[in-house]
Order: sequence, then structure tokens, then C-alpha cells
Amino acid sequence: MPVAPVVILLGPPGAGKGTQARMLEEDFGLVQLSTGDLLRAAVAAGTEAGVRAKAVMEAGQLVSDEIVLAILQERMAQPDLGRGIILDGFPRTAGQAAALDRLLAAAGQKVTAAISLEVEDEAMVARVAGRYTCATCGEGYHDQFKQPARAGTCDKCGGTAFKRRADDTAETVRERLTAYHAQTAPLIAYYDEKAVLQRINAMGHIA
Ligand code: AMP
Repeated sequence: MPVAPVVILLGPPGAGKGTQARMLEEDFGLVQLSTGDLLRAAVAAGTEAGVRAKAVMEAGQLVSDEIVLAILQERMAQPDLGRGIILDGFPRTAGQAAALDRLLAAAGQKVTAAISLEVEDEAMVARVAGRYTCATCGEGYHDQFKQPARAGTCDKCGGTAFKRRADDTAETVRERLTAYHAQTAPLIAYYDEKAVLQRINAMGHIA
């Protein structure tokens, strides 16, 4: 189980959850737990959960609470949770938020802060469709908004291999935005009622 704080990043695809999580990791020694990353690793490893999740992820829909909770709990049982955790892309449904509360309560803890990254949908399609990351260190880049200083070489680690996510197409992003508004956006009010919500205007460019 994590030590406090437990910070949640809420926001649609392209809002900058991953980028903000990496900054919080560096600045505060927190550990980023991304259910998207955990699911992609399960897909790549061909585990049972990965096999079940693959088509759902490719369609831009949400993987079942059961699979996501199992994968997250497995990760949270590991000892390397730093000085606290940043949940990136979790919870995404009311059921996941309730399960997280129960999980934390069992360890005498609760959510410290939920940060809502607020953006406009249309800008997200361009952001997501052009993005890619360094395959070595995970630094984020974008075809239009942030190219490496030296073409083909990561600014941060000097790596020369880059990758793009299979679900980062304009079509799938629209599906993911729909899922976000229907299933995840209601969590903003949920955390507001718990008085842990912070809203941030996230329309600026990646630094
Ligand atoms: P992300 O990397 O957070 O954009 O997630 C990529 C995809 O993984 C999503 O479009 C979903 O299909 C799936 N996914 C990630 N996190 C969750 C979650 N908490 N609940 C359900 N599906 C998730």
C-alpha cells in the first residue's frame, strides 16, 4: 500500500496527465501509476488481462473495472511506491473511484488531491494524433508542438528510438473523449464534494 499523498490526475486524453505526472515525480519523489501503461504492458506481455483488454483499448473504450482494479492492486502491492503516488488515468468510473476509496480506507488513508486538467475537446484531437515518446526514457514529443532539438535524438536521454501508441489516431481519440465525458467527467463533482478537487487550465503548450 502507498504512503500518502495519493494524487489523482483527471482529464481527457491529451490533457497532459502523463506529462504532469512525470513532473510531479521529479519534483516531489512521487511514483506515477498509469493504468494505461500497466494495461499496455499486459497487452505486450500477452497476459490473460492483456488479451481481454486489447480490443477494447483499440476501440477507445474503457476496460472493465474488474481488470483495471486487479492490475492496479497488483502494482500497489509492490514496495517501490516512493513518497506517495500519482494516479494517472485512474479512476475513470464511479465504480473505480469507490473501489479506490475502500482500498485506501482499509489502509487508513484517503485521496489527498484530485487535479482536474481542463481543456477543450477539439484541441485534444490534434494533440493526441501527433504525439510520440522516447522509447528509452518516455519523454513526450509532438510532430507540431515539440520536436527534439536534434532530429531523431531524445533531448533528455539521447535515445534514438521513438514510439507512438496504437490508439492515438484521430478516430480513436474521439471515441476516448466520448468515454471520458460519459464515464469519467462525473468524478470531478465527486472529488469536489470531498473538497479535494483542484482545477487547472491545461490549454497551454507542452514545455
Ligand atoms: P491512457 O493511457 O490512460 O490514455 O489509457 C489508454 C486506454 O487504456 C484507455 O483508452 C482505456 O481503454 C484503457 N484504460 C486505461 N486506464 C483505464 C481505466 N482506469 N479504466 C478503464 N480503462 C482504462
